Amino acid sequence: MLSRISVVVAACFLAACQSQDATEVDPPVVEGEVNPALERQTEEFERKVYTVTDGVYQAVGFGVANSILVEGDECVFIVDVMGSMESATAVKAEFDKITQKPVKALIYTHNHADHVMGGLGFVPDGEVDVYAHETTNYYINRVANVLRPVLNLRSTRMFGNYLPRQGPDRMENVGLGPLVETLDRDMTIGLIRPNKTFADTLDTEICGVKVQLVHAPGETNDQIFVWLPERDVLMPGDNIYKAFPNLYTIRGTLYRDVLAWARSIDKMRALRPAHLAPSHTRPISGREEVGEILTAYRDAIQFVHDQTIRGINQGLTPDELVEVVKLPPHLAEHPFLQEFYGTVEWSVRSVFSGYLGWFDGDAATLEPVNPDERAAGIASLAGGAEGLLRAASEALDQERYRWAAELATHLIRLNPSSTAAKRIKADALRALGRRHINANARNYYLTQALELEGEVEIHDDTKPENALSFVGTVPIGKFVAAMPANLIYEKSADKNIVAGFRFPDVDEGYGIHVRRGVAEFIDHFPDDPDITITTNSNVWRELVLGLRNPVTTFTSGDIQFAGSALDLVAFLRLFKPAID
Ligand SMILES: [Zn+2]
Repeated sequence: MLSRISVVVAACFLAACQSQDATEVDPPVVEGEVNPALERQTEEFERKVYTVTDGVYQAVGFGVANSILVEGDECVFIVDVMGSMESATAVKAEFDKITQKPVKALIYTHNHADHVMGGLGFVPDGEVDVYAHETTNYYINRVANVLRPVLNLRSTRMFGNYLPRQGPDRMENVGLGPLVETLDRDMTIGLIRPNKTFADTLDTEICGVKVQLVHAPGETNDQIFVWLPERDVLMPGDNIYKAFPNLYTIRGTLYRDVLAWARSIDKMRALRPAHLAPSHTRPISGREEVGEILTAYRDAIQFVHDQTIRGINQGLTPDELVEVVKLPPHLAEHPFLQEFYGTVEWSVRSVFSGYLGWFDGDAATLEPVNPDERAAGIASLAGGAEGLLRAASEALDQERYRWAAELATHLIRLNPSSTAAKRIKADALRALGRRHINANARNYYLTQALELEGEVEIHDDTKPENALSFVGTVPIGKFVAAMPANLIYEKSADKNIVAGFRFPDVDEGYGIHVRRGVAEFIDHFPDDPDITITTNSNVWRELVLGLRNPVTTFTSGDIQFAGSALDLVAFLRLFKPAID
């Protein structure tokens, strides 16, 4: 068997290490300034409506995503509807200058909020055909899932919502869109749900325009592309944009099937489109140029996948793989593959965990020492906490920022109130963020630096009316089904209670059985419950979302219950933070 070192060398030789030097484009970064390449990317998002071809117009820069207008004889349809009412209304005003024909249909390329939340801005009464993949509704509902707190925290860091607008640590852009909208906490949403869905392919005609919708899993599982054969226009949704694809997103996501993504692009290549109108960044025209971009994009994705698998089979761990899997020069230098949004490194790690899960294969990491023991051990090697602080400070001075951040993290674990340690970690993260070409990394580093300094405290500042207008459309059963993951084990360890929920307005019933630290969801009204709660489904939603005071809700009679009031209160107190 090859030794570890020779495995790395062999993988390096066989994979793409010959390209390593050529690919490490180090843009001239000036201390205290935004990475100039990322700054240039902002120009990509200049607010403008492009004419893709006759009767197809693409609005760029009005929000994070684009919106595309397709004009037919008597009416128009819109592909992707922006992420808020405000941005949708601004786009609609521009589209109205082109044509006043009525909006007959909306098409959603996938479920992400920046593409679907502005529907009512285009069609105020909501009466419209909305085309999407058959799973898009399901994925929209998932946003209301039990992971909302952590996804909110990580998304907020990644999109830089709390970063200043000016200065070297400003929020420059989000990699594939401008800073507007993501920073706008006062935005309102106007979601219209899909009502014309399909599984694989849908051939139809809208406003006299032939339209083919094709399921194309990639950035999301519900992704579709839109093909207008008569106009030679392909709308790839988020499976193509002018940045390295986000094969993994650092806000946290299920594994994105990268090979399926490459195959989806192959379906697009087969159409040989003359125009590419993506849902982020600008349109591209020219059959040759579009073909070349599609090919480079799918090749980059497959390259990362294949070379990661190869390294995995040679025994490499994720930390080793990211050192050896580097794009070949022709891809690394391609304008559509610059790491403004996704990165090769995160993708490699994601492919590893997507196939093998968390264990890297080395028994030394199978049951690792706990973080406290590790921190104490590292400190002791450094001659105590003082020595470790000195080492972290030296690393910072030597511009070894990742190492400085790691050492400072151990120090903070040993002493969570250590200002000196937090200072070093914040400085290290800020230095990493300022230099980064990747907007997500930059925003994340800079935000966490501010958090360490106590300058920023991230909280869920979703406006109640937004929460209701969106989450209010999520089926009520999902709310009850989300309760188990909010169960406080310590309070429920000796409990055995069955609660039944009746929602007469939608004629649905559910149950929760709390059984010694576990809450089992029952998808129907349970037999012989200890407590029965009867209420309107919207009242329950508002209660769960914190828009109603529980005490006044109960005393006002909006919720009826059978059983003991004490039992009821005791039951609800078992859950946090949804119900308190
Ligand atoms: Zn998007």
